[in-house]
Amino acid sequence: MSQSPFETRYSPVIILGLLALLVLVAALWVRDRADLVARGDGEGAMETSATVYHWKLVTAWPKNFPGIGQGPETFASLVGEMSNGRLQIHVYGGGEIVPALGVFDAVSQGVVEVGHSGAYYWTGKAPASVFFTSVPFGFTAQEINAWIHYGGGLELWREVYAPYNLIPFAGGNSGVQMAGWFNKEINSLEDLRGLKMRMPGLGGEVLSRAGGTAVTMPASELYTSLQTGVIDATEWVGPYNDLALGFSEVARYYYYPGWHEPGSMLEIIVNKDAYESLPKDLQAIVTTAARAANQDMLDDYTAHNNAALKDLVENYGVQLRKLPDDVLIELHRASDEAIADLVAEDPMARKVYQSFRRFLDDVTEYHDISERAYINARALPYQADKSAD
Ligand code: CA
Repeated sequence: MSQSPFETRYSPVIILGLLALLVLVAALWVRDRADLVARGDGEGAMETSATVYHWKLVTAWPKNFPGIGQGPETFASLVGEMSNGRLQIHVYGGGEIVPALGVFDAVSQGVVEVGHSGAYYWTGKAPASVFFTSVPFGFTAQEINAWIHYGGGLELWREVYAPYNLIPFAGGNSGVQMAGWFNKEINSLEDLRGLKMRMPGLGGEVLSRAGGTAVTMPASELYTSLQTGVIDATEWVGPYNDLALGFSEVARYYYYPGWHEPGSMLEIIVNKDAYESLPKDLQAIVTTAARAANQDMLDDYTAHNNAALKDLVENYGVQLRKLPDDVLIELHRASDEAIADLVAEDPMARKVYQSFRRFLDDVTEYHDISERAYINARALPYQADKSAD
């Protein structure tokens, strides 16, 4: 049987058109069903999208490392729970997808959606970023949190990172760090001369000005570098972390206080396009989870550092030493000079520094008569049992 020219030319088009219509109707039905499921059956239940987002988070730390490495895990699991699984974040340790110090570029370029690291690793890209981790003789944890969230710090940080398509959040804090691990005693500034030490950020710059050589390397390389003499000394974080890295096996003296990092804030950086593709409620969840993870890390360190230090001293034979006051005074002088030089060369760093300096002066004045006065008061000795007299 022969077909008419009309049938020959148009019937496949009509069949395809009908098929397309069928697919469209089916897709609309599936979407309506999904909306019903997502809406739930309770009266007045919030209307939500059924879209599930999968994000990758890269870190600068070994996976599940105490404190610093727990921060991104806390953030990811809070986001997952609060969003009821609508935003799922998979955490990768340093080197798993990108190198530990490749976090900034990976998130900036959209290779992954989110990263957890420290802003002071990126001073080569944006000198002002150092103020958003820690500068020598700068803020404590309590103070930087106040500056970031109530003193204009966060707005400045977002301005610094905007050219890189990144939105930063405070992502944890180590509290006051330790001054580091040495194989010789530091009795004067002379003892720092010629010393090759791992120390990032402005602390490293200050060490160089004091006659030492500062190098930056990730945590995973520190033990071997110290053991083989590639470096003479290292700082890392504090007892909770340093115990886990085994530095007590390759260095003898453990110095305090961490003048170079008095309250290092970590960062959660989110790719701007990825963040803006989220519905408003998921954006709020990311913001809230970051704020919670930021505080949680400080609590973790505060709770665990002391026991780790006791362990290091009592069971690992570590010699605890305080840096002499005259060394600290000279390091403070060199720090202020290094900061002055940094801000003289970079307008954005100067702008951030002005805000930082004003806040530091004000908070120092108040903390002199509050935090410091109280800690001193608590340490005043009293006679144990007067009634026994
Ligand atoms: Ca450190």
